[in-house]
Amino acid sequence: DLSNSLAAADIAHSMHPYTNMRLHEKQGPMIMARGDGVRVYDDQGKEYIEGLAGLWSVAVGFSEPRLRDAAVRQMDLLPYYHSFAHKAHEPAIRLAEKLAEMAPEGMNRVFFTNSGSEANDTVIKMLWFMNNGLGRPEKKKFLARNKGYHGITIASGSLTGLPGNHKDFDLPAIPVTHLTCPHFWRWGEEGETEAEFTARLLKEAEDVILAEGPETIAGFIGEPVMGAGGVMTPPEGYWPGIEALCHKYDIVLISDEVINGFGRLGTTFGCQKYGFTPDIMVTSKQLTSSYMPLAAIIMNDKVYNAIADNSEKLGTFGHGYTGSGHPVACAVGLENLAIIEERDLIGNAARLEAQFQGGLRKFADHPLVGEVRGVGLIAGLEMVADKATKRSFTPTGKVSGQVAKFAAQEGLICRAVYDTVALCPPLIVTEDDIDQILARMGRALDLTWDWVQAEG
Ligand code: PLP
Repeated sequence: DLSNSLAAADIAHSMHPYTNMRLHEKQGPMIMARGDGVRVYDDQGKEYIEGLAGLWSVAVGFSEPRLRDAAVRQMDLLPYYHSFAHKAHEPAIRLAEKLAEMAPEGMNRVFFTNSGSEANDTVIKMLWFMNNGLGRPEKKKFLARNKGYHGITIASGSLTGLPGNHKDFDLPAIPVTHLTCPHFWRWGEEGETEAEFTARLLKEAEDVILAEGPETIAGFIGEPVMGAGGVMTPPEGYWPGIEALCHKYDIVLISDEVINGFGRLGTTFGCQKYGFTPDIMVTSKQLTSSYMPLAAIIMNDKVYNAIADNSEKLGTFGHGYTGSGHPVACAVGLENLAIIEERDLIGNAARLEAQFQGGLRKFADHPLVGEVRGVGLIAGLEMVADKATKRSFTPTGKVSGQVAKFAAQEGLICRAVYDTVALCPPLIVTEDDIDQILARMGRALDLTWDWVQAEG
């Protein structure tokens, strides 16, 4: 039996990311065999709606023939070339041109990497290189937020604000200060209004800038809507306030659009939803619908020109990856963006927001659910042990993990991130699909409630 031998081989030889391997050796893998639209099927033929679009990333669904064809065409023509030292090829040129066209005014330059983590590492090095060339080598620190996720390499993992990603890895390894998570429901104080919460966070940011010295701070990085930390939407006025502080103190503002970008919030980029214009956007995931690994750093002329001038002064910008702007990945990205445009998938996210978010908000009455939050086609349901006090379950993730397990049993894949159950379906999702997502989630919550009560 193939599935058994596959599972046995996996247990014998694979080491999985983000996995308790001793537990995995006992319970074995869930093996996915094929995809069809918003659905995937495991090796036993069981059907699931992929409610997280893989890892927040498969915008066009799991069976798009145009992406396969684009990859095959490019494989036939020129399967690999690089872009080091003045070399170029059409897919990377066209994709950079396309991204500059889609990006806010003035963001005209693109640097490619293979992953979001590498992209954020690259941004750190870009700003260090820029400030060295500008004769201000002390301007190297970063501001980020608690619960932010920016990747997992040594530098991008340092920007990430999740203790679990730091504590056993001796991170942060670069100078970074993590500010309060901009999530009013959880971090607002007793009696504080949302506007007061925003004002407090902006004051905190400014106090840190002044205490550290603005001349030491290179960049501020944040996700417009935070994803992997638990789907947190920002309070009113937060982003324009952060933008103003960055302008005031000459700090480069980086919008990490790896999850938000290309329509997730019902706008092309997340920054557009919240009314701010960054200097740099970091994109990946929905850029290729994750059919190929690819990330793109999109920067404004000011950042680009400072780096380009430095290359004259300091020498070449000595950074890049073998796979930077891989032609097959770029060809798939171009086709994927064409599909997103032709099928108006960004509009689809905006149109379905009311049904998706409205349907999920009804679960706010469920005894396990402390808050339902989200925007466009991304949402989180935070599980609490006590709705009145917002007390969390211990250990973290115990009950949200159980919801995800019951949801899978009911044919819905979602993800437990800490105490939050996250949903982020492919952008091609339909009204019928959303009805099914809501029904399956409802059953998973009820099964979990029975389980919690039986556990005592
Ligand atoms: N930034 C954000 C906002 C992300 O959500 C992620 C991945 O989930 C990353 C960066 C890192 O991307 P990658 O996993 O491709 O390295």
